[in-house]
Amino acid sequence: MDTVEIIRAKRDDHRLSDEQITWFIHNYAAGGVIADEQAAALAMAIFFRGMEPDELAVWTGAMVDSGSRLDLGGVGMPTVDKHSTGGVGDKVSLILVPLVAACGAAVPQLSGRGLGHSGGTLDKMEAISGWRASLSVDEMVDQMRRVGGVIAGATEDISPADRRLYALRDVTATVDSVPLIASSIMSKKIAEGTESLVLDVKFGSGAFMPELDRARDLARTMVGLGEGNGVRTVALITAMHTVLGRTAGNALEVVESLEVLEGGGPADLVEVTLALADEMVALAGLDADPAAVLASGRPREVFEEMVVAQGGDLSVDLPTAPHVEVVTADEAGWLGRLDCLSVGIAAWRLGAGRARKEDTVSASAGVVCLAKPGDVVEAGQPILELHAEDPELFAGARHALDGAIDVVDEAPAPMPLVVDRIGA
Ligand code: URA
Repeated sequence: MDTVEIIRAKRDDHRLSDEQITWFIHNYAAGGVIADEQAAALAMAIFFRGMEPDELAVWTGAMVDSGSRLDLGGVGMPTVDKHSTGGVGDKVSLILVPLVAACGAAVPQLSGRGLGHSGGTLDKMEAISGWRASLSVDEMVDQMRRVGGVIAGATEDISPADRRLYALRDVTATVDSVPLIASSIMSKKIAEGTESLVLDVKFGSGAFMPELDRARDLARTMVGLGEGNGVRTVALITAMHTVLGRTAGNALEVVESLEVLEGGGPADLVEVTLALADEMVALAGLDADPAAVLASGRPREVFEEMVVAQGGDLSVDLPTAPHVEVVTADEAGWLGRLDCLSVGIAAWRLGAGRARKEDTVSASAGVVCLAKPGDVVEAGQPILELHAEDPELFAGARHALDGAIDVVDEAPAPMPLVVDRIGA
């Protein structure tokens, strides 16, 4: 097999053969035969030329086969997971995993860390004193049998081809390609061994795919890959024009998640969480009503059990930032827009996110939205609270928020949160 020939074929818009794909993915994951610049050239060719559905299925299958597929057969309950394409203030997993576990399913949530403006579930959970992200497969299976839910870091053996390719795409401007994102996400979810999967595909300024049409395309592609690999898959398309809930930042989001688990919390966060939970429960074939189960308080207990099982202690106060500043409204009216991406970048600059994989994050930094689009505001009213460990970080966060807040003369039309559903 000739690497240059494979790159040329895709450059010239030909379908790669199954043999070319499996050879390429196997050798790139193994290292030694294919240089990074060759893999980068192929990623760029795919970025421009795309892939046929059956070609992408082979590509994704080869990525799964570059590692191992977890065997969750020992769990003894239906397994169902959720994956979000990422947004600002998206703490849904912290509520959803114990909620769906309390409904009677096992939820094997293997998550990642945040990069850039979009937060990561593991970073949020690590704000809890003592909580440990790294579990062996046996520990995960055991925890699911006992508690029902697990949130943990992916093991090294989950789609190692993706680990190499994703790092390369990150530095070669080839991340935002539908086939490359779909295969990257789905190879990990298929390898995780879940029987069914609900995808939360975000669109809007804080999402990977700001345009609704591309989000739909991504959702359809991922649902096709899941179904083609024996994973029952449904996608919801949800809005990410503004922060989900009121907080963006690790400990701040844990506090807000606990509020929802205790029967309160912001309505938008509850709505998205319950919409996803309904889909997960249906896919798992369970006869449970997630709204009633949430109201019962049982998911709060399951969350506690999940935390304790991984060494965490919720009786220890969550970290709070020593420095807090507010951003106020310039005029009176309705809050028309609170730009999601800008708030995400502000939270990141305050220390809540990382610019490079090896950076550490601040548990206490972040942004609290004191008002949300649609609220009536007075001139001078605080709209945002900025939380930081280091006051020097406020200037960069304020800069990110320039132009992010629009106050308008008329009440803005409410925007639906769940705009579409894709799947059987
Ligand atoms: N998340 C992933 O896991 N992969 C991508 O390509 C993009 C987002």
